Amino acid sequence: MTKIKDTALALRGVNYSETSQVVTLLTREHGKIAAMAKGSRRPKSAFEGAIEPFAFGQVMFIPSPTDKLATLTELVRIPRFRLLHTHLRAMYAGLFALELTEAFCQEYDPHPALFDALVAALEHLEQGDQEVRVLSVLMDYQLTLLAEVGIAPVLDVCVNCGLAVTTTPKDLYFSSAANGLLCPGCEPSFADKRRLSAACAAVLNRSVPFDKAPTVAAEAERALIYHFTELLGRPPKMEKYVMEQNRT
Ligand SMILES: [Zn+2]
Repeated sequence: MTKIKDTALALRGVNYSETSQVVTLLTREHGKIAAMAKGSRRPKSAFEGAIEPFAFGQVMFIPSPTDKLATLTELVRIPRFRLLHTHLRAMYAGLFALELTEAFCQEYDPHPALFDALVAALEHLEQGDQEVRVLSVLMDYQLTLLAEVGIAPVLDVCVNCGLAVTTTPKDLYFSSAANGLLCPGCEPSFADKRRLSAACAAVLNRSVPFDKAPTVAAEAERALIYHFTELLGRPPKMEKYVMEQNRT
């Protein structure tokens, strides 16, 4: 098999032996890949040390025709996202973005626009730890991820009857099973749902910018976490860390 060169962001690294790791990477042109990085835990390797989440650079890898794991042969690091580690809330949000990316992307299914959106989100996150900004960057990325993988929720009209949600000042509901908002008239017919304030719905459908509605930022993120929990069939691992940092 020929070697493939690409730009990659590490989503996860799991120790495989004293010296090696199995890493999950998001590559820009080839999508998500899982690869064996032989010798990556040695101080001197073709990977410049162990591969941790947020590691970024040019990679060379050889896909395996039989094994699920590719072989990573090189990582030339480009220094990025180094300030993320200095902001706990932002770092947790970044790890949450990586976790969801790994969960919702398929191997060798490229999404260059999603790759660029994730890199941009991490760049925004490393600029600071202010709660509303961190949550707004995270939510923007989460909605982009859902749209990129083809399951964008319906957030501007009632998913059941098509009523424009801006016409109702009342509380609305979000149903994960219905994949969208429900108006007060339709919600009694749906068992799986979560109440949302009208202001929160406006933030989620982007008719009001996140930073103009600081009081509903955490409510909106909780609604998305409910949705991701339903989609995954379990709570995302980073959920409790993110919400502990954002209790308002
Ligand atoms: Zn309706």
